[in-house]
Order: sequence, then structure tokens, then C-alpha cells
Amino acid sequence: MDFDLDPGHIAIQKEARSFAESISHIAAEADECSGVHAGMLAALRASRLGSLVVPKEFGGRTDRIDPLAICIVREALMAASAHADSLFALQGIGSYAITAVGSSEQRTNWLPRVATMEALPALALTEPDVGSDLKQVGTRIVADGDRVRVTGAKSFISNGASAAFFEVFGKESDGRFSMVLVPADAPGVSVTASPDLIAPHVLGEIQFKDVSLPASARLGSPGQGMDLVLATLGVFRVSVAGAAVGLAQAALEEAVRHTRTRVQFGRPLAKLGPVAQMLADCWAEVEMARLLTYRAAFIASTDPASALNHSSMAKLAATEMASRVVDRCVQMMGRFGLIRNSKIERLYRQARPMRIYEGASEVLRLGIARTLTETIP
Ligand SMILES: Cc1cc2nc3c(=O)[nH]c(=O)nc-3n(C[C@H](O)[C@H](O)[C@H](O)COP(=O)(O)OP(=O)(O)OC[C@H]3O[C@@H](n4cnc5c(N)ncnc54)[C@H](O)[C@@H]3O)c2cc1C
Repeated sequence: MDFDLDPGHIAIQKEARSFAESISHIAAEADECSGVHAGMLAALRASRLGSLVVPKEFGGRTDRIDPLAICIVREALMAASAHADSLFALQGIGSYAITAVGSSEQRTNWLPRVATMEALPALALTEPDVGSDLKQVGTRIVADGDRVRVTGAKSFISNGASAAFFEVFGKESDGRFSMVLVPADAPGVSVTASPDLIAPHVLGEIQFKDVSLPASARLGSPGQGMDLVLATLGVFRVSVAGAAVGLAQAALEEAVRHTRTRVQFGRPLAKLGPVAQMLADCWAEVEMARLLTYRAAFIASTDPASALNHSSMAKLAATEMASRVVDRCVQMMGRFGLIRNSKIERLYRQARPMRIYEGASEVLRLGIARTLTETIP
């Protein structure tokens, strides 16, 4: 058994780290933006990293999307900039249903522009009154002859007003769930700003007012919506774990640099027992989460659907770990950990939403525990 990344993944890691370094001068500014930061988007476009989230046939790098490559890239990006990480991740999350079941027209029209990041996608699941309990969605998808009509409101949608299209999840008249690809410029679509968050994020509230589209705008067949959500999570949920590992690693490096040089009671903080203990615990936890994440990503690359439990475990463990680690790092840095817009303070704020989006920790635990109790003989 080999626990190291193979040469192909090491090359992607180097590429992502070098890109992350190249954006360090705009990271702090971009991370405070609730709209797309033009400089960051331009840098990402030039990097060609977007080609990792669509298949080769449509401008991607590999025949199939590789969840481990995406994890590794998100790990490097999140350590540098949450804004860059989110823009990169959304290219895949918001377009995966097209990759999975899109018609050849949908694929050729959108995926090459997703790969180059000319078109920013969005996945519209959440509604003002519906979050974790997705089956309660109120958005209606109604067959209307050779057309389909979409009516409803979506909330907290990443990429918001900057998205070129939305993969919209809703309910058919017969109660089945479906997905429709709605271009952002379709008549009846409007976007308003979402509330500002503790860690700013590009978000929008989307209204679909009797949006009428050709039936060919459907993604897959009627009733396939929930499968498409699960397929998207099968490939991309584990990548949140990758980002959480990157965030925790960055926080730990900040704490190490600080505690190695700051002297109290005649010794560097890092040599004072409880601080040394916190450093060691943080390192061990980051390494544990990284191993779990890479393994889950590896499983997802061979069989995304059956990997969902591993991805959920990795997402749960890594995001909870990142919160613990960054909190300890702030503690080790004392008052210097509290300075607004310092690197550690940004990481502290950015860790928090990760335990809520793409499956809140408590909801993930329910699914993991259900599988556990059903599989142990
Ligand atoms: C930065 C950010 C970006 C986002 N981007 C998108 C996006 O692009 N597209 C999109 O569709 N949505 C997006 N969302 C929304 C996100 O998916 C939801 O916030 C998430 O699904 C949780 O829903 P909720 O916030 O309504 O919480 P709720 O569902 O109201 O849950 C609140 C809390 O209750 C607990 N809880 C809920 N259900 C259970 C249960 N069954 N058992 C035990 N505890 C439970 C959990 O602790 C949970 O955190 C984004 C959110 C954020 C913060």
C-alpha cells in the first residue's frame, strides 16, 4: 500500500501551490468581497485550473473528473484564499449535472466555457424556507407541451448575480424531483443580494417567475433530480474536506511561526507545555483528516455513488477538525490572533460556514450512523 500521491497528483499539487502563492497579494482583498473579485477571476482563468472540473472531451484535462485532484487543488487554494477556493469549486459543483446527464447541446454549449471559467455556474437547491430538508422544496417545475416552466425562489446561492446559468432543483406536479438548466438571462430570472456573512461569500437570492424554457432545458429526465444532487455530492462533497485541511494547515503554520519566536516566561511559547501540546494535537489532527480525505477522494474517483459515506465522514471530520485547530491557533497567538483581517482572523471566520454548507455536521452524522447501524451484522 502506498500512502503517497502519485506523480500526476504531485504535479497538480505543485501547480496549485504555485498558483496559490501567485495570488497572495490579492487574497486578503478578494476574501472580503461579496461579489466576484475581477483580479482573482482573471488569475484563475489564466491558471487553467478550471479544466480539472470538466471531462477532456469538453476542454477538461482528464477523461473523467478526478475528485482527488480537486481535493488537492482546494487544499492549496483555501490555504491562500477562500474566494479563490469557492470560485474554483463552484465551477465543478454548479456544472456536474451537465457533465453527468446533459444533452450534447448542453454539454457543448456550456462545459468548454466552464473549463475556461468564462461562464460561472451555480447549483440552486436551498430556498428561503428549505435548507437541510431538501425534499420540502417549493420550486415548481411544470411540463407545458414542448416547454417547461420554472417558478420559485432560491436562497444563498453561490456565484449569485455572477452566474451564467443555474442548475435548478424543484418539484414536478406529480411530486417527483427534477433539475432544469436555467440561463441567467432567461426572462423571469432576477437576482438580489443575500445577507453579508461573517466570512464574505459571493451569494445571491434568485427568483424564477414563470420562467418558460424549451423542454430540452431539462437536465436528465423528469424525476432524476435527487439522483443528480447525490451524484454531485458524490464527486464534490469530499472536496470540502480538502479545503478544510488546507485551512487548518494554514492556521497551524501561522501559529507555529508565532509561537516559535514569541518569548514569554523566558522561553518561546512553543516550548511552554500546554502550547507545545496544542501544536502537537493540531498537527496530528490535520494529518488524520488529510489521510481520511485523500482516501475518500480516491474511493470517489472509482465509484462516486457508493463513496458518499466516506465523503460524508471526511467532510464531517475535516471541517470539525478545522474549526478546532483554528480556534486553538487563535488561542496560541493570544491577542495577535484577534486582529481583524490578519491571516489567522480570516481563517477563523472562514472555518465556520464549512460545518454548515454541503451537509451540516448533524445531518451528515445522521446518515453516517444510519449506514453504520444497517451494515454491522
Ligand atoms: C457560504 C454558503 C454558501 C452556500 N452556497 C449554496 C449554493 O451554492 N447552493 C445552495 O443550494 N445552497 C447553498 N448554501 C446553503 C446551504 O446549503 C444551507 O445553508 C445548508 O443546506 C443548511 O441549510 P440551512 O442553513 O437552512 O440550515 P437548516 O436546515 O435550517 O439547519 C440548521 C441546523 O439544524 C440542524 N439540523 C437540521 N436538520 C437536522 C436533522 N435532520 N438532524 C439533526 N440536526 C439537524 C443542523 O445543526 C443545522 O446546521 C450555502 C450556504 C452558505 C453558508
